[in-house]
Amino acid sequence: MNHTPDQKSVQKPVQDFALPQRSTKIVATLGPASSDLATLERMFQAGVDVVRLNFSHGTAEDHALRVERVREAGARTGRTVAIMGDLQGPKIRVGKFRDGKVTLAPGDDFILDAGMALGDASGVGLDYKELPRDVKKGDTLLLDDGRIVFDVVKVEASRVHCKVRHGGVLSNNKGINRMGGGLTAAALTAKDMDDIKLAARLGVDYLAVSFPKTGADMYMARTLLQAAGGQAFLIAKIERAEAVVPGALEDIMAACEGIMVARGDLAVEVGDASVPALQKRMIRLAREQNKLTITATQMMESMISSPIPTRAEVSDVANAVLDGTDAVMLSAETAAGSYPVETVAAMSRVCIEAEKSAPLTLDREFLDRVFTRVDQSIAMAALFTAYHLKVKAIASLTESGSTALWMSRLNCGVPIYALTVQDATRTRCALYRDTYPLPVHYRGRDREELLLEAENVLVAHGAVQEGDIIVLTIGEPIGTSGGTNTMKIVRVGEHRRS
Ligand code: PGA
Ligand code: MN
Repeated sequence: MNHTPDQKSVQKPVQDFALPQRSTKIVATLGPASSDLATLERMFQAGVDVVRLNFSHGTAEDHALRVERVREAGARTGRTVAIMGDLQGPKIRVGKFRDGKVTLAPGDDFILDAGMALGDASGVGLDYKELPRDVKKGDTLLLDDGRIVFDVVKVEASRVHCKVRHGGVLSNNKGINRMGGGLTAAALTAKDMDDIKLAARLGVDYLAVSFPKTGADMYMARTLLQAAGGQAFLIAKIERAEAVVPGALEDIMAACEGIMVARGDLAVEVGDASVPALQKRMIRLAREQNKLTITATQMMESMISSPIPTRAEVSDVANAVLDGTDAVMLSAETAAGSYPVETVAAMSRVCIEAEKSAPLTLDREFLDRVFTRVDQSIAMAALFTAYHLKVKAIASLTESGSTALWMSRLNCGVPIYALTVQDATRTRCALYRDTYPLPVHYRGRDREELLLEAENVLVAHGAVQEGDIIVLTIGEPIGTSGGTNTMKIVRVGEHRRS
């Protein structure tokens, strides 16, 4: 079919649209299955809120092109979609294969060879040249998140000789973990440092840091990002045994804006059975500390090759929603799977249904909150009021998005609309649970003008109707930068009538 785009639809201005009623956000990893504009548009319409650029795969040009298309698809669909860059980190990975992959059977001999260029059935190269120094005979190596298992039989110079215990298809750049953790690679590799610059240049909203062990690792990433001119929020991927010992998680969290429950590597390091409880603990702690959370890996794994999820996957996604995660993430399902759009749609459907049964925890959690800032006090007052008055919506007129972030840490059952003139704030808020970012344009100093625009935007997007009660937060005087200091209860349409 000759695919000439219809001029009218290309140039159609962004339409007002009904916002999705889904509190939990969806992060979709981009890859070969989801890089063309048409697929991106369909994925956005199906409900993607954040796209992840996985810097473990692809070139800088691939990522730059994807960013361009994401912005184009966002403009065409009228959806606010944030972009997250994800550093490869010191993950030990196999190199590439001559044919892209090999199939390994139990009992096969296979060599991990730091000096090998292109792999084949006899062995494959390594990006981390120190691996032969870090492992010894008798170690168990887990490849591709543990799908393939090797026993180390001998190490000589740059070559680790292995016997395949569990076989399967091993493809380019798949990860290697040692059971029990303890590999010594530094927090940020030379490639990560280049990718931090790339992330700054592409203007990503979030930067995920892989394998941090301490807050200092996050601090280092932040320093490099800021030196490169980047403003992204940092997400610490919790995927090392060292990161979940008492105290470490708190230390890492204090140095970032959010965490990813990175179950793929974490399960290999700490044992799969420990992960569900850790997921709950991490999400609870993050919410208490006003941090964001993303629950990741294998959430809809079977949909890589199936148009419907398994019952277990449906339950896993629903349980992450009930744990209070901000977002659930898709990896290979959308990057390389056969059903990227269907997977997003299925995940969205499962989240919406799970949210209906999520308990409203506001009163209980409210008692433990400690806050001393004026803007945070207004956020908490607005939330409490909205919950007990059972209003239709909370509208937060915000510059930085902090008010929305604080309010979204407690489950109060009222949608939070983050109304902002700042594009960076608007896209960032796309990850916050319960939060729907919308643009406003008024930059003057007239309070009534601003409130009128806010109301009009909410009505245009179907968030509220004439006569609904909403709770509004705002910083006064208008037009000067300074924190939120005012809460107002408004009946929609009052302005017009008076
Ligand atoms: P990855 O991180 O997909 O980059 O490995 C997520 C995880 O380990 O779960
Ligand atoms: Mn990982």
